[in-house]
Amino acid sequence: MPYNNQTTDELMRLDREHIWHPYAAIPNTAPVYPVVAAHGVRLQLADGRQLIDGTSSWWSAIHGYNHPVLNAAAQQQLAAMSNVMFGGLTHPSAVRLGKLLVDLTPAPLTKVFFSDSGSVAVEIAIKMALQFWQAQGQTKKQKLLTVRGGYHGDTFMAMSVCDPHDGMHQLFSGTLPQHFFADKPAPRFGEIFVDQYIDSLQSLLEQHRDEIAALILEPILQAAGGMNLYSPKYLRRVRELCDAHDVLLICDEIATGFGRTGKLFACEYADISPDIMCLGKAITGGYLSLAATLCTDRVSDGICAGGVGALMHGPTFMANALACAIACASIELLISQPWQRSVQNIEQQLRSGLEPARALPTVVDVRTLGAVGIIEMRETVNVAAIQDEFIRRGVWVRPFGKFIYAMPPFVMNGSDLEVLTRGMVEVAALL
Ligand SMILES: *Cc1c(COP(=O)(O)O)cnc(C)c1O
Repeated sequence: MPYNNQTTDELMRLDREHIWHPYAAIPNTAPVYPVVAAHGVRLQLADGRQLIDGTSSWWSAIHGYNHPVLNAAAQQQLAAMSNVMFGGLTHPSAVRLGKLLVDLTPAPLTKVFFSDSGSVAVEIAIKMALQFWQAQGQTKKQKLLTVRGGYHGDTFMAMSVCDPHDGMHQLFSGTLPQHFFADKPAPRFGEIFVDQYIDSLQSLLEQHRDEIAALILEPILQAAGGMNLYSPKYLRRVRELCDAHDVLLICDEIATGFGRTGKLFACEYADISPDIMCLGKAITGGYLSLAATLCTDRVSDGICAGGVGALMHGPTFMANALACAIACASIELLISQPWQRSVQNIEQQLRSGLEPARALPTVVDVRTLGAVGIIEMRETVNVAAIQDEFIRRGVWVRPFGKFIYAMPPFVMNGSDLEVLTRGMVEVAALL
């Protein structure tokens, strides 16, 4: 069968028969749409329809699709080599990217471990924390502390620190390690913080500091765990409490990194820096899977001074050259332009465009920060049933749980944002 000349029907039949989609059954009971190309902020379906993409392909394609600068970087790297192993070898794209990340992230982060996906970056962060304490002879510090409402990925250790109710704890209860869960971070971004909000986290730290290696959380925006935007003061207190109780702080900036919330990294809102930081998603502008785990000298020195004297991790595709080259181009493109202004403009448009949803009886809350706009519904959204309504309105929006949200590419213009937000409000009104 000529694979390059399939009809769309045949493609869809094969997809249904053989291919897993995220969190889906085979055959898939939910609709799936074939995309044949993507340019700028638009996805082109096989039937010729164009959709304005409100998701940036899971928050990664910050410059839009098929960007000439990123394409050129990919081609240039391909002409040299697409990849080379990282054990005993190095290459310019990895070194350039590492230096860029060290320069752009908060100052005490100086060391970079490259891996291939966000979940793995989280695994490495946790491994760093565990190895750090083990190397100091503090062998009891093997647990993690986290907050409810978080999401850190789908691998096993990452799953174990996802929200214990909405995550997959039930399903794998016999296998997942048990950690400590504090209340969901509060209050909301922009509301007044009082110490009570952090009581549950503080008392867990006080009771279990001898067992806790690290606290892991998403700064400011808990994304896939429930679209919670919380107060920077909470995060500031988290940093103070970790210091006071000798617990490392891991900030998972996989969703928030590279400008999404209006700061380059969301921990800047609280003016703090973590001991370990995870980056992923937007790092290559959505082109390839790549992630990074950064740490301070204290952490790297601690790991390397004791125990086995090395960080025990090394993925086959570590620091993939093609991905690193595109990441360099994407990050340089971002910081070479007034990206804050673009994100602020998007924030304003999302805020005004989504505001009418607040009046709907089915809507609980509407909130925005940076290039993130959220409509929280009263009930869980039946995505399979409603997906086509977005398509009909010329937009690609992919709700989850109770959330109809947009995280558009930073290059989306005013009229596209208007179509996008109108589509979201109209669909919310149907529910
Ligand atoms: C998406 C995400 C992850 C997991 O990244 P993958 O690349 O899907 O493995 C981890 N943490 C946060 C905060 C995320 O948003």
